[in-house]
Amino acid sequence: MTKLQSEAGLLPTEMFHFINGIEVESSDGARGELINPVDETVLASYSFGGVAEVDAAVSAARSEFDNGVWSSLSGYQRGCLINKLADLVERDADLIADMDAVCIGRVPMEPRILDLPNAIQTIRTSAGWADKIEGRTIPTPGYLGRATLSYTVNEPVGVVAAITPWNTPFMITCWKVAPLLAAGCTVVIKPSEETPMSALHLAKLAKEAGIPDGVVNVVTGSGSVIGNALVRHPGVDKITFTGSPAVGQHIQTEAAKDFKRVSLELGGKSPQVVFSDADQGEALAGCAMGIFFNQGQICAAGSRILVQRDIADEFAQKLADVASNIVVGNPQEEGVQMGPVCKKAQLDRVNYYIREGVAAGASLLAGGECPYEKGWFVRPTVFAAATNDMAIAQQEIFGPVATVIPFDDEQDAVEIANGTVYGLGATVWTSDVKRAHRMAKKIKAGAVGVNCWAPIDARLPWGGVKQSGSGRECGLSGVMAYTEEKVITVVTD
Ligand code: NDP
Repeated sequence: MTKLQSEAGLLPTEMFHFINGIEVESSDGARGELINPVDETVLASYSFGGVAEVDAAVSAARSEFDNGVWSSLSGYQRGCLINKLADLVERDADLIADMDAVCIGRVPMEPRILDLPNAIQTIRTSAGWADKIEGRTIPTPGYLGRATLSYTVNEPVGVVAAITPWNTPFMITCWKVAPLLAAGCTVVIKPSEETPMSALHLAKLAKEAGIPDGVVNVVTGSGSVIGNALVRHPGVDKITFTGSPAVGQHIQTEAAKDFKRVSLELGGKSPQVVFSDADQGEALAGCAMGIFFNQGQICAAGSRILVQRDIADEFAQKLADVASNIVVGNPQEEGVQMGPVCKKAQLDRVNYYIREGVAAGASLLAGGECPYEKGWFVRPTVFAAATNDMAIAQQEIFGPVATVIPFDDEQDAVEIANGTVYGLGATVWTSDVKRAHRMAKKIKAGAVGVNCWAPIDARLPWGGVKQSGSGRECGLSGVMAYTEEKVITVVTD
């Protein structure tokens, strides 16, 4: 295999599991291949693990948690080491961004300006929380007439299995790993088959930062084998998962069998609601970014664009003009703004929904199905005059396909916005501050942006309602999600 060179340095072409501080090959020597979405050539190979590797990784994480030092360090000491990890991620930021970009066929500038700065801030913010995981003292009338002191402590939940997707791999991995480290947990990461590179690099940086062996482990391979084995493993206390609702549901069902803790982040069909009183230029730019950034492969993609009827036709046409002008091609080439989608299954999925949209009678203003040659390219697509019952308005496509739906008034907008099984993010574009607050209150979602699309931040909780998942990542909520609250009552007289 030829060396994989990016502007920031050499990328690995051979990868192995990272268990208990060392690289290891699978016991049966099985290997998987990373395929370049641009031309379908083999980029690199990685160890394709099985149950034996899951057992080894969980055993390392369990042993470090139960008998090692990590969870018994003071929060301040953990915070110092997590900050060192942030320094190292900062040192390698461009290289890590390129790892993710190459694996998923993304324009390298996108992870460089968004994913990596966010990941570094997440690590630093989590480091800051490590010595601020505080309990409460709770006054009570006492116990059987005796005076008592009751207080709570938040203890680390234990060994965590972190199962991650391919769309923004490093950032999402850090949303899980940084806060769980702050809480004092240990982890086995199962990255997506498409994107193991940056998670393995993170584990190596954790070792370089001085985080003890066994705290951060990575097993690579398929979800149906090692993902399943992790979910069922008795040595795992909590599962944190980002990915599809179908797999999320499976994980929740399996985890319930032995009452494992579960956090799920499952994507959405997020509405962008554009009122005619909004700054039209800002709304157009925000809606375009919300659906075309990262080829639309974003859990919070603003894929349903609800536009007030009097401006809907004009707005849809302008969005179509933006879509038609996006330069699609090899993301490593100068001037290219959008690469292919991550994998063949994703290409088929996007094309399927485009056909569905046409068949349902939505008006195709830009893009459309792309003839398949080599590479998994799709065209930025805009449907107008759609209705909320169409598949393109209800199903998460996870591609650059915008569905413009006209609405009449606020009430109509709320009903359409809430009219899916999802509830992750939402955006309201308006210059009326009272309307902004009314809409934010009525929309059922984990996060609402007013005049901004998906304002994610390391300090802000992130997660969904309804079938978009349960639990929150990032900020203090993200750290507390890796703790169990214990109450201690002491008779004091
Ligand atoms: P999946 O849910 O299939 O995969 C996500 C992760 O779960 C991967 O690491 C995968 O491993 C693993 N996994 C798969 N099956 C199991 C299992 N039975 N037990 C445990 N882990 C498992 O998502 P995809 O990557 O295929 O993406 C498909 C859809 O998911 C998208 O179209 C989108 O709707 C949604 N999605 C949402 C994201 C979000 O940010 N909320 C991110 C990515 C996807 P492996 O890679 O080996 O299959």
